Amino acid sequence: MSGTVLLVEDEPSVGELVRSYLGRDGYRVIWVRSGEDALVELDRHQVRIVLLDVGLPGMDGFDVCRTMRARSRVPILMLTARDEEPDRVVGLEVGADDYLTKPFSPRELVARIKAILRRAEPQPEGQVLTLGDVVVNRETHDVTIAGEPVELTAKEFDLLAYFIANVGALLSRDQLLDRVWGVEYPGGTRTVDVHVAQLRRKLGRPDLIRTLRGAGYKAVSP
Ligand code: CA
Repeated sequence: MSGTVLLVEDEPSVGELVRSYLGRDGYRVIWVRSGEDALVELDRHQVRIVLLDVGLPGMDGFDVCRTMRARSRVPILMLTARDEEPDRVVGLEVGADDYLTKPFSPRELVARIKAILRRAEPQPEGQVLTLGDVVVNRETHDVTIAGEPVELTAKEFDLLAYFIANVGALLSRDQLLDRVWGVEYPGGTRTVDVHVAQLRRKLGRPDLIRTLRGAGYKAVSP
């Protein structure tokens, strides 16, 4: 269950598309056609994210965003038909988290939602992760093996921290790409393989991250 999405969109074709696609992806979608209704629904439900059209009858999306921000920290993704810089700036000023310009693909929308929710989620507790003699400090970004410091790139660090935080879990390449690189990364899953190979080499602990053929990777306790 991915949570409740409040969709504010007066265009039936866009609303239908978004609702059905997000529904299939496990979200519960509350769809309203005006900003006034959106403000009512926001108070009535545990909303995880608001998808907010800019051009609405009555209050426009910017006014709705400003009003929501005054009373809630809920993540807001603006949907705009106008790909113009002034709109983006206004949207940022009124407190939107991100924008998507119409027309957008449903896949792009879902990816953007996931990225926003990920940023909005509180960091897991504990800044120091350990696996065997590997110690990862997420606050200082230091990594040591048996007490000796290891130099990792930022992505290698993120990847290692993610593996250790999810020790024992099967992690697919797509999942790693999504969680470590984020949706903005245009490359393919081959990138994951390259980084895992580099990590194994730098750590000198090839068995720490196992390859599960055709499935992905898994970090294991030694
Ligand atoms: Ca509209």
